[in-house]
Amino acid sequence: MSTMKVPLLDLRLQYQAFKVELLPILERVYESQGFILGTEVTALESAIAAYSGAAYGVGVSSGTDALLLALMALGIGAGDAVITSPYTFFATGGTIARTGARPIFLDIEPSTYNLSPVALQRFIDEQCTSTDNVLVHRASGARIRALMPVHLYGQMADMTPLMVLARRYGLKVIEDAAQAIGAEYLGGARAGSIGDVGCFSFFPTKNLGAFGDAGLCTAQDAELAELMRVLRVHGGKPKYYHALIGGNFRIDEVQAAVLNVKLRHLEAWTEGRRSNAVAYGELFAAAGLSGTVTTPYAQPGLRHIYNQYVIRVPERDKLKAFLGEQGVGCEIYYPVPLHLQGCFSYLGGTQGDFPESERAAAQTLALPIFPELKHEQLAYVVDAIRRFYG
Ligand SMILES: *Cc1c(COP(=O)(O)O)cnc(C)c1O
Repeated sequence: MSTMKVPLLDLRLQYQAFKVELLPILERVYESQGFILGTEVTALESAIAAYSGAAYGVGVSSGTDALLLALMALGIGAGDAVITSPYTFFATGGTIARTGARPIFLDIEPSTYNLSPVALQRFIDEQCTSTDNVLVHRASGARIRALMPVHLYGQMADMTPLMVLARRYGLKVIEDAAQAIGAEYLGGARAGSIGDVGCFSFFPTKNLGAFGDAGLCTAQDAELAELMRVLRVHGGKPKYYHALIGGNFRIDEVQAAVLNVKLRHLEAWTEGRRSNAVAYGELFAAAGLSGTVTTPYAQPGLRHIYNQYVIRVPERDKLKAFLGEQGVGCEIYYPVPLHLQGCFSYLGGTQGDFPESERAAAQTLALPIFPELKHEQLAYVVDAIRRFYG
């Protein structure tokens, strides 16, 4: 096969498909010269809440700010701890630390790469004290206030056992749904509709991407949603009167207008990603690579939306370099688990603490999966991998 270019992501084809719809709407925003928190934002908030099966939506400036705002609205800060996965994008742990709270990392399930409910149960049993609905981490003395599961790559964490444990021990639940818009759990509940707050990112590489940075929090509770709205504008209510200290977490009209148009196409794009994943599975099997390449495990009954298509392979770094030479874009999400990041050394994490997260960081590789890919491009990627191992 001759060399072909298969980028990890190319948004230009997608843009061509909706730009006729979008440009008149953008022009209306420009003509209005109303840029912040206007009618496009309000429409987006209702639309994403409805799409996700949540009661409320609060548009914000990024996925990172969505996480930070959720933590702030839940009153999490110094003396508190929040449990999450170490195998995730930095923002998940970074925002916890920025509130003054202590991130507590627990290992993942090797099949789904999501936070392990078994690890959570064991951690509570062995390292915590629970009295009167207050859960304390004995080693640090921190009060554990919340659980922040990540729906990594577009497949939801195992929410039923996680929610049972969270409710039993009085923990709030913040879903990091940055990669999982439209993903479904058993029974069809969507990402962002199960925990107290769901946090979405509209970073351009996410399944629903803006023309810059943007994000959104979903919530089930009216008071919590209202508190997030107030904290989004520096805690001013009424304007210039501050009972609370918030931040500038605003989303703008241009981003909301883009997202409102793109949302109409999201189901079709998601189905495109899902059928590409099926095609990859068939191609890997046909190439005789089933014993070498571990394709993503899509848990039965869940809807995986494949923000990333991540395989697990031997000689990962060499394969990545080879694919680069063959014109195939690929990426490592994520090479260093959070407990081994320099900035978190004060937490005392060491190599060996979370073996499944460390193994995943060493073995996984994301392949191109965006909906506009052609079947021959998928076949070229699989053939390149076959040649590498051949
Ligand atoms: C993208 C992402 C974020 C952060 O979103 P931004 O919009 O880039 O700030 C947080 N968590 C996860 C898991 C992500 O993938």
